[in-house]
Amino acid sequence: MIKAVVGANWGDEGKGKITDMLGKEADIIVRFQGGANAGHTIINDYGKFALHTLPSGVFYDHTTSVIGNGVALNIPVLFKEIQSIVDRGVPMPAIKVSDRAQMVMSYHVLFDQYEEERLGGKSFGSTKSGIAPFYSDKYAKIGFQVSELFGEEEELRDKVARVCETKNVMLEHLYHKPLLDPEKIFEELMSYREMVAPYACDVSSFLWNAWKEGKEILLEGQLGTLKDPDHGIYPMVTSSSTLAAYGAIGAGVPPYAIEKVITVCKAYSSAVGAGAFVSEIFGEEADELRRRGGDGGEFGATTGRPRRMGWFDCVASKYGCRLQGTTDVAFTVLDVLGYLDEIPVCVGYDIDGQVTTEFPVTHLLEKAKPVLKVLPGWKCDIRGIKNYEELPENCRKYIEFVEEQIGFPITMVSNGPGRNDIIYRNK
Ligand code: GDP
Repeated sequence: MIKAVVGANWGDEGKGKITDMLGKEADIIVRFQGGANAGHTIINDYGKFALHTLPSGVFYDHTTSVIGNGVALNIPVLFKEIQSIVDRGVPMPAIKVSDRAQMVMSYHVLFDQYEEERLGGKSFGSTKSGIAPFYSDKYAKIGFQVSELFGEEEELRDKVARVCETKNVMLEHLYHKPLLDPEKIFEELMSYREMVAPYACDVSSFLWNAWKEGKEILLEGQLGTLKDPDHGIYPMVTSSSTLAAYGAIGAGVPPYAIEKVITVCKAYSSAVGAGAFVSEIFGEEADELRRRGGDGGEFGATTGRPRRMGWFDCVASKYGCRLQGTTDVAFTVLDVLGYLDEIPVCVGYDIDGQVTTEFPVTHLLEKAKPVLKVLPGWKCDIRGIKNYEELPENCRKYIEFVEEQIGFPITMVSNGPGRNDIIYRNK
């Protein structure tokens, strides 16, 4: 069976933990989109890790970790990440990299920095990992696919020269920065060839055969619905689709093979980067939630920057779950809310005096004011609880209220960062 683990919101919902947990029963775990721009934090028997490129299954010795064709593959980052986990005692993982994945080049990272610099106050808040320039090049058909490293060298050299010609016009006239040397770029590609050679293969055929044999395959999404370039808060989005449906494309599997879509929703909201965030809170209220949030505070796994904080947003989450094609919701980080006397929840958006529960397009979203309903808190620590019925009544009421508002079944409740901090509900 193929299952996808994806985010309902702005990312950082705890997908890494849920994938790591479900990975126990999986044979293969696949990254299908995004790059090293976002991170998953995982806590397990080996310690605490921030992964950026590797799938969250790398800690098991029974799983194969796959980088699908849809990923923005940064080869040096991938290798550093493999080394860093092996250095900490994790057995060398079995890794396969799609020969159709394209590579993030050093100049993609530079262009990302230069463009953010140029935009100044109007910047996107990019992590400057080269993701937007990478995907632009992929669709402009001037990207480099892993397979090209193993083709005719002269052809590759010619293509490098053509690409540098275009890039250098921008570097000279728009950014006023040093030009690219085609020879150096060619050498960069050759060094990637050496690194990736042991892992490169036809991933879609590997996955097809595994699926036919009845293997358990997990597709691991990065970020969440609201960062999708089509269905998210464009243009404050990422550059590849964050939806489970894209798992079929970014891994190369049949769309109908994805039988379960587990959408991860955090019990409150957080976001990074610019863009409308209707249920956002500020000041001391936000600082306290940020300090207590996640595991060790809500700070970016890649950049360390403080995340923007807000109350749970039923409008955004209902939409986020619908676009993912949710079969199950995993409701995470609920334990963090145990300090609050009362917990506000955003149940509607007031746009020019009209209240709606449908998530609007960006220019209307920017005008939206949150309609809040305040629920009573439970004022205790719920970590360690294993059965749903043992949760405090107000905590169950919070879960059931959210479930009714979003309209999708919450079948898992996460009450701590560890692999075993999970409460299953039969729905
Ligand atoms: P991802 O990108 O969706 O995997 O999310 P992140 O890793 O950026 O953020 C989730 C953070 O919350 C991580 O630090 C996790 O260890 C932590 N986390 C996940 N689930 C829970 C939970 O149920 N309770 C607490 N306290 N922390 C959690």
